[in-house]
Amino acid sequence: MPGYYLWTIGCQMNQAESDRLGRLFELWGYSLADKAEDAELVLVNSCVVREHAENKVVNRLHLLRSLKNKNPKLKIALTGCLVGQDISLIKKKFPFVDYIFGPGSMPDWREIPEGFILPLRPPVSANVTIMQGCNNFCTYCVVPYRRGREKSRSIAEIGCEVAELVRRGSREVVLLGQNVDSYGHELPEKPCLADLLSALHDIPGLLRIRFLTSHPKDISQKLIDAMAHLPKVCRSLSLPVQSGDDTILAAMRRGYTNQQYRELVERIKTAMPDISLQTDLIVGFPSENEEQFNQSYKLMADIGYDAIHVAAYSPRPQTVAARDMADDVPVIEKKRRLKLIEDLQKETVGKANAALMDTFAEVLVEGLQKNKWQGRTLGGKLVFLESDLPLEGCLVKVKIFKTSPWSLQAKLVNILES
Ligand code: SAM
Ligand code: SF4
Repeated sequence: MPGYYLWTIGCQMNQAESDRLGRLFELWGYSLADKAEDAELVLVNSCVVREHAENKVVNRLHLLRSLKNKNPKLKIALTGCLVGQDISLIKKKFPFVDYIFGPGSMPDWREIPEGFILPLRPPVSANVTIMQGCNNFCTYCVVPYRRGREKSRSIAEIGCEVAELVRRGSREVVLLGQNVDSYGHELPEKPCLADLLSALHDIPGLLRIRFLTSHPKDISQKLIDAMAHLPKVCRSLSLPVQSGDDTILAAMRRGYTNQQYRELVERIKTAMPDISLQTDLIVGFPSENEEQFNQSYKLMADIGYDAIHVAAYSPRPQTVAARDMADDVPVIEKKRRLKLIEDLQKETVGKANAALMDTFAEVLVEGLQKNKWQGRTLGGKLVFLESDLPLEGCLVKVKIFKTSPWSLQAKLVNILES
């Protein structure tokens, strides 16, 4: 059997798309190879959100070109945000790439089988893309230019896919989109994310539902209420703030202020006191001064997130910020701010996790990792536990006996659902 190899970089949506493409290649008669050198088909699923990621993708493509010189049978396929909407441009730039197709779409060089392309044994926690694209055009972000406008799948279609995943063994689904709070607005019946959550909630055998990413300007009270009242919906929200300073937020075109964001978090915490919050933050956005950075730092410290994904600003072609705003924060200063936020996160998450010592938690066990079972709490915290029992896919009660900023170690108390 010819081999295929996947090289994926970037967000969870890219990961989900690569998983789906891998299954398609298997239906086409390929089997997974251990390394690119052993494959006849290599797929590069690319990210260009930051320059660093784009450089990695370009380097990888050139490495594959030399591999192809040695092995003329090798076919290279490219998808993801490097491709974007205009394929002809990228074809000119990388003429040695055999197949090119846009992010979220399917290859067109062979027939695609009818129906969902799902694995026979899907993971305990399965990613399900519910919408493509983004309409927001934050001034720093290249995603809307590469992934196009928002396009949602219908509740019926998503419901069928989730039911089938559950039938084949999944117990949790992670609903993915760049801005899931605007799910459905362009569909004829205009369903919203809360409607989708309610519909999926009724699927027997499904234990948990997660979703990401949320946009603070679009989260509705209806969604907060739905989360609070639907027990299968995890107490976990990815709520990217990007900056804590109002002038920078306006320059980013985020559509909310520091105060509005804080009020939203208060409302969410009132409805769900046990909510776990994650955020994304950019440091060194054009013109960000010390005082403005301190606003971000203070917001991070005040909210007490469970995870902060912090990145140094990187100008991206096509975006308003790259065109109209000078990238005037020196690299060394961006790195200093990045380190301050990383240190803060280590300290606050470390403290929050330490407070969980000797407490009980419900964990959905996803699989084995270095001889230990690995799973997540309702809030999404990573837990490891030792047991000789076959726990994959089980919902278990555990007691935490060791903590770090990155994960929790626990002992099995009992199995709640197997
Ligand atoms: N849709 C989500 C949102 O609204 O935040 C996230 C999508 S974006 C692809 C993922 C993260 O990359 C963003 O949250 C942002 O922090 C970061 N990012 C996007 N453009 C960036 C840039 N030009 N420089 C640095 N970080 C960037
Ligand atoms: Fe990019 Fe903003 Fe859309 Fe997120 S909401 S993908 S940051 S444009």
